[in-house]
Amino acid sequence: MTEKLVEIKDLEISFGEGKKKFVAVKNANFFINKGETFSLVGESGSGKTTIGRAIIGLNDTSAGEIIYDGQKINGKLSNEQRKDVIRKIQMIFQDPAASLNDRATVDYIISEGLHNFKLYDNEEDRRNKVKDMINQVGLLEEHLTRYPHEFSGGQRQRIGIARALIMEPELVIADEPISALDVSVRAQVLNLLKKLQAELGLTYLFIAHDLSVVRFISDRIAVIYKGVIVEVAETEELFRNPIHPYTRSLLSAVPIPDPLLERDKELVVYDPDQHDYSTSKPYMAELRPGHFVWGNDAELANYRKA
Ligand code: ATP
Repeated sequence: MTEKLVEIKDLEISFGEGKKKFVAVKNANFFINKGETFSLVGESGSGKTTIGRAIIGLNDTSAGEIIYDGQKINGKLSNEQRKDVIRKIQMIFQDPAASLNDRATVDYIISEGLHNFKLYDNEEDRRNKVKDMINQVGLLEEHLTRYPHEFSGGQRQRIGIARALIMEPELVIADEPISALDVSVRAQVLNLLKKLQAELGLTYLFIAHDLSVVRFISDRIAVIYKGVIVEVAETEELFRNPIHPYTRSLLSAVPIPDPLLERDKELVVYDPDQHDYSTSKPYMAELRPGHFVWGNDAELANYRKA
């Protein structure tokens, strides 16, 4: 039986007021099962980070609900509830150089959350927790006294991962965790994330713009276009049967390893004007079991026929 850890219902996130109001995310609907890797994929500026930040409470929401383990976590929360959410949901950022305090030692950086939340009994306990964690991410105890700038990009991301996981989170939001890294170390960091997920029973929300990366790590994928989730499906189902025209376009741009096929393939161009929503409004519909697509009645009827 799969259990839902996160449910996003008709979520809207906007910035600014009145004439300046900009709706970055609208009508978002999806859920994340316990223990899975769920990826949010879309081009730059589509609203992926905005959704991730809303889940950890860094962005306010203007409509809809974020349910975590059965409890609504957007809007007003008691201090106790907010603290609980902040510990249970941790984030790993794209650029480890920018997200680590360069004047602090690795020991300090990894311990900061433990201090803030009093998650250790005494100094010895704290040190043991930090030592265990640094080993789990493939670094050494002697690294603890050093500073972030003394490490490579891949190592710094390992420090970022240790800082997040020492909080013993349930959900980890990894926002483009390998995009800023050298190609040569990307696979190592992905494998590390996979290994830690299995060992610690973590649930991942993975944010990425590159479909070929998420294919290998995701159980399910949501595709987002200009703030609207247009399709959600299990990974292989999405790659085999993409339905929404934007997903089809995104998939057509993924390189094929065979040079002959790659040369002859046709890129699908997405034209957002093809949708006429003036009279019939779109909504998220389950077209096949577990496969959700955004469209109005006429479009969904066509997608069902295809
Ligand atoms: P990227 O991959 O470039 O990070 P993204 O899909 O994560 O892209 P977001 O960072 O979520 O996109 O941004 C979505 C939209 O919301 C963008 O148009 C962005 O300019 C806007 N936006 C994000 N944060 C704010 C803010 N604090 N104030 C105003 N607009 C914002």
